[in-house]
Amino acid sequence: MTFKELADLIFPDARDISYYEEKYPERDLPEGAIVTRFAPSPTGSVHIGALEQCIVETALIKNKGGVLMLRIEDTDQKRKVENGVKGIIDSLKDFDITFDEGMTDEQTSKGAYGPYIQSQRREIYQAFAKYLISIERAYPCFATPEELEDLRKRQEAQGLDNIGYYGEWALYRELAPEEAAARIKKGEPYVIRFKSMGKPDGRITCKDMIKGQIEMPQNMLDIVIIKGDGLPTYHFAHAVDDHLMRTTHVIRSSEWAPSLPLHLELFKTLGFKVPKYCHYAPMLKLDVKRTEDGTPVLNEDGSEATFKRKISKRKDPEAAVDYYYKEGIPSESVKEYLMTIANSDFEAWREQNPAADLYDFPFSLKKMSTTEGALFDMDKLMDVSRNVISGFPAEKLVDDVSCWAARYDETLAGLLKDKSTAVKFFGIERGPEMKKKRKDIGKWSEVKDYISYLYDELFYAPGLSYDYPENFEKETIARLLPLYLEKYYAVQDDAGQWFEKVKDLSEEIGYAREVKLWRKDKEAWPGHVGDVCMVLRVALTGRRNTPDLYQIMQVMGEKTVRERLAKAAAAIGR
Ligand code: GLU
Repeated sequence: MTFKELADLIFPDARDISYYEEKYPERDLPEGAIVTRFAPSPTGSVHIGALEQCIVETALIKNKGGVLMLRIEDTDQKRKVENGVKGIIDSLKDFDITFDEGMTDEQTSKGAYGPYIQSQRREIYQAFAKYLISIERAYPCFATPEELEDLRKRQEAQGLDNIGYYGEWALYRELAPEEAAARIKKGEPYVIRFKSMGKPDGRITCKDMIKGQIEMPQNMLDIVIIKGDGLPTYHFAHAVDDHLMRTTHVIRSSEWAPSLPLHLELFKTLGFKVPKYCHYAPMLKLDVKRTEDGTPVLNEDGSEATFKRKISKRKDPEAAVDYYYKEGIPSESVKEYLMTIANSDFEAWREQNPAADLYDFPFSLKKMSTTEGALFDMDKLMDVSRNVISGFPAEKLVDDVSCWAARYDETLAGLLKDKSTAVKFFGIERGPEMKKKRKDIGKWSEVKDYISYLYDELFYAPGLSYDYPENFEKETIARLLPLYLEKYYAVQDDAGQWFEKVKDLSEEIGYAREVKLWRKDKEAWPGHVGDVCMVLRVALTGRRNTPDLYQIMQVMGEKTVRERLAKAAAAIGR
């Protein structure tokens, strides 16, 4: 019996591989265009590192042209969750990540290189496995779990460096086709293994687009390519899919880099052109070192000892991208932050191009970190986010907050129903045209507190207290507030007139009308016009730090201003 006949016996219906080569021809793309893919398992949620990958891929496609595919890798059926594909697509859509080809829902897809879900590509993998058997580079393996366990024990007992199924240890590698056929006919369970030709002292080299030149020992393992359930393993599916989908760039986490020797051998044996590999370092997180019972380990100086580890969905809520949505961190901020850590010169570019689209940045794989992944830093993300939000037009800001609040904060959603007040308020010192912008909101979950003083129902809360500047006697404030209302406040005043009147008020109560004057002779006055403004600010908002007071008073309107100042005056001495 020949191996070709054995291959026919195992996969009687599989087509010749030439069928697929013709069905999925080389793509007709402009010079330099790239074809890449995002290839998650259908787990329903997206890891922050995976989002970074999608952003990098989108940036490359926008820069160079090409195709971005969504391929669902569901060969490990245990990892599948209901509506897992839709979950991934929807999460990514929140970040404006869309695909040119690939899955569009649990079962539907677009593009001519599909199916884009591996469980529907079974016959394709079988065709290529059949081909490998026929050329004696794959074989059925009948090893039982006990046999494999025994093998491992014997290898360990001999102190071997290389533990696994390979060479003379590979029990069924040299099985004659007749015997294999007889076992199959008897109904013995089996898998299909690749027959590696790797040598113990052999090396592979490969130019990684991120890591640069890589040199590693050759693969020697006869890995499983088709499992007992007829589905392929990751390695085999990777080779077959990325070849037939005509992927030019395999962008993936460097957790896959150790498998590179195997992948190169598979590509070579199958006669496939090797794609460009781009292994990026996974994102890290700083964690506190702990002893076995959970107590933090301390450094000599008493501080907590830390270590870096991969950020993980199991341990870190911020590892799943849905977290940002729930917290109300805008997708624009998250994307901006991820770009900042993906390419170190992005920030400098952003300073030069504050209003440009994120994807106008000339992204380069070569500038990605070659060794260690970036440390996830929530403080930095918040900094980036405050900056991003400061450039939002007020209308967009209010729409986005309202949209978030509709799901997560009923009270806030109710307040924002009066959209015109909110838009006026958020327009103060903020927006794309403003030179010096307020950078004081980092996420939507901070907004209710931020704007609470605009609304009586939140402002007059039990904890309300007035923290006036120290250089005022109570009596002065009690005099100042009604005086301002009676003599100086006029809602129709423009900003200049308004300020002149606050200066007049300052003078009348014995404070310097200009900061400059007061500076020249600090003994002559207890304070200056700025301090008087602070008194008004505290009385009106309960805070010392707010956007421009004149504009806030305009947004509040005359009735509220008068009521607030009167009530603040009444509260003095109580
Ligand atoms: N399904 C693999 C993963 O999620 C894909 C890796 C790749 O991009 O090739 O890790």
